Amino acid sequence: MVSELGRILSPEQVLSGPGAQRAYDCDAYSVDRSKPMCIVLPESTEQVAAVVRWCAANLVPFTGRGAGTGLSGGALPALGGVVVSTKRMNQIVEIDIPNRCLKAQAGIANKRLSDAVKDQGLHFAPDPSSQSVSTLGGNIAENAGGPHTLKYGVTAQHILGVTMVDPEGEILELGGKVPGGPGFDFFSLIVGSEGTVGLVTEAWVKLTPLPTAVQTALIAFPTIRDATETVAEIIASGVIPAALEMMDRGILVALEAAFGLKYPEGTAALLLVECDSNLSAEPAGELVQREIETVAAICQAHNAIDISIAQDEAERQKLWHARKKGVGAMGRLAPSIVTHDGVIPRSKLPEMLDFVYEVAERHGVKVANLFHAGDGNLHPCFYFDDRDPKQVHAVIEAGEEIIRKCVSLGGSVTGEHGVGVEKQDLLPLMFTPDDLRLQAMAKQIFNQGNLCNPCKILPTEKSCVEHKKRWRGVAW
Ligand SMILES: Cc1cc2nc3c(=O)[nH]c(=O)nc-3n(C[C@H](O)[C@H](O)[C@H](O)COP(=O)(O)OP(=O)(O)OC[C@H]3O[C@@H](n4cnc5c(N)ncnc54)[C@H](O)[C@@H]3O)c2cc1C
Repeated sequence: MVSELGRILSPEQVLSGPGAQRAYDCDAYSVDRSKPMCIVLPESTEQVAAVVRWCAANLVPFTGRGAGTGLSGGALPALGGVVVSTKRMNQIVEIDIPNRCLKAQAGIANKRLSDAVKDQGLHFAPDPSSQSVSTLGGNIAENAGGPHTLKYGVTAQHILGVTMVDPEGEILELGGKVPGGPGFDFFSLIVGSEGTVGLVTEAWVKLTPLPTAVQTALIAFPTIRDATETVAEIIASGVIPAALEMMDRGILVALEAAFGLKYPEGTAALLLVECDSNLSAEPAGELVQREIETVAAICQAHNAIDISIAQDEAERQKLWHARKKGVGAMGRLAPSIVTHDGVIPRSKLPEMLDFVYEVAERHGVKVANLFHAGDGNLHPCFYFDDRDPKQVHAVIEAGEEIIRKCVSLGGSVTGEHGVGVEKQDLLPLMFTPDDLRLQAMAKQIFNQGNLCNPCKILPTEKSCVEHKKRWRGVAW
């Protein structure tokens, strides 16, 4: 395999051996691991197509991988085979300012898209907190969200078209610079398909004007309830903030340890609220000022103990630092983190957060929460030691209980991190067997041989069951 793929690409574009296998055996959901036979590093659509044709001809499974920041095991090579990394496909292909769009290769980091057009007053709106490393291809596969999803929408709303390699190795163009078009909308099937229907190699993305006015506030609350009740009330007031994020005491402890950040005494939770507008400068400034004042009044009515409003861009970045670096800071607290992801109607946040702490205590696992509260998108982060099977088991059990509760409150098993291998057995909570069969048929249109990222999303197919037992923490 290694020598044949080395001839198709070049020998230095194929990685193999225990070190490489270890580095690519999981994503950021590290409790399930499975090692690939080898990893390829193609540089163009044609090279990806050549690798996939070889895999199809030799019945070898293959799995696409961007930065490996996925949080549901999507890039785990479930049946081994070849990992196709897009790390060397990281170029911007074309910038079209008059039509406010840009074409880039799939392996480019999300943030580089916005950096490339900021001088023109534009940006790529989806901003997962992993944006400095997670890739365009990974964002498309997971239909990634982020702090600004509340106002600007998820990745699907910002992708115009893709170039992709189907599981037979054929190159397809779906969608394009101009939206719409006749016929069935296969392009919409690609965004959010978690790399199970082909490998995206390039994409046209929409560019959105940068706001002309922004106000950002960090608000400290004495109890979790005060903070969670505030969230629903802000949205009910008619203000739609660009971002409405929440962090609890567990995250603050990690931030204090990692960066020496200090928060007012007695803080149990923080809300980060950003209001923006891209109307012309004067009305934008007034509108945003009015919105942030409304937010501040609601926070005060809910016992806020401190409201800090950024006075300039440097202060704004400092306030965001707490949110963007929160999960990273938790790396100091334990060897492993599992970041869960579920959604509920935001009015249910107070009840849900109480449940999260109760479940964590009952299972004896440590939990901290930082999440996109405005969307009702929860991220309980369990921190633990994955070398201890008992702790791994407790984390998985607690996570499942939380997801079941999300569904029972009218929510979903995942908000933005995808199903991957983590949640596939929970899909029947939301779909009937007929629903699932229809989804399997849609997947099969593209992926007939099931070689493209097998054993993902849909409840485990027979061939995956025996492998699944081996994934959990013991592949090494
Ligand atoms: C600290 C941290 C913060 C995060 N914050 C957010 C957040 O705010 N919002 C959010 O939505 N997610 C967040 N995530 C999750 C993750 O960053 C996103 O899911 C991201 O989109 C994954 O991108 P990636 O390049 O790392 O993809 P990978 O993890 O490498 O892959 C993810 C999936 O995409 C598939 N894939 C990758 N590239 C391609 C391709 N070119 N073609 C087809 N399939 C492909 C893989 O097979 C896999 O199924 C966060 C993760 C971390 C670690």
